[in-house]
Amino acid sequence: MEDLNTEQYEQLADLLANQQTELLVKARDGLELSMNRERDGGRDSLDESTEEELISTELRLRDREKKLLTKIRDAQQRLETMTINECEDCGEAIGFKRLIVRPVTTLCISCKELSEEHEAASDGSTTRGRL
Ligand SMILES: [Zn+2]
Repeated sequence: MEDLNTEQYEQLADLLANQQTELLVKARDGLELSMNRERDGGRDSLDESTEEELISTELRLRDREKKLLTKIRDAQQRLETMTINECEDCGEAIGFKRLIVRPVTTLCISCKELSEEHEAASDGSTTRGRL
């Protein structure tokens, strides 16, 4: 397996740290937004469904952010143990080019393609792959 050099590890560490900061800033902004809305309070019932929609969108977003944050932390751990470029499916090296685009990935490009084909085939919305 091809190892990453120190410079590449540092680049990935920087990238992950930046993504983490960005997410935390975004999460904080979302929190402030909902706190302001609560303080505003006392809307009439006509607005309620829209409000609920907004809140659920916000929660979904935060859920996604939480998941991404977890992925970033996992990637940072893999970085520490120097296994960040190891595909968790086949154990082959994940190319640095792929890691720099998607540092949270845990699959090499061929395993990723395979799993996407599998997903597409199982959700029934496409005729790609086996029938
Ligand atoms: Zn693989």
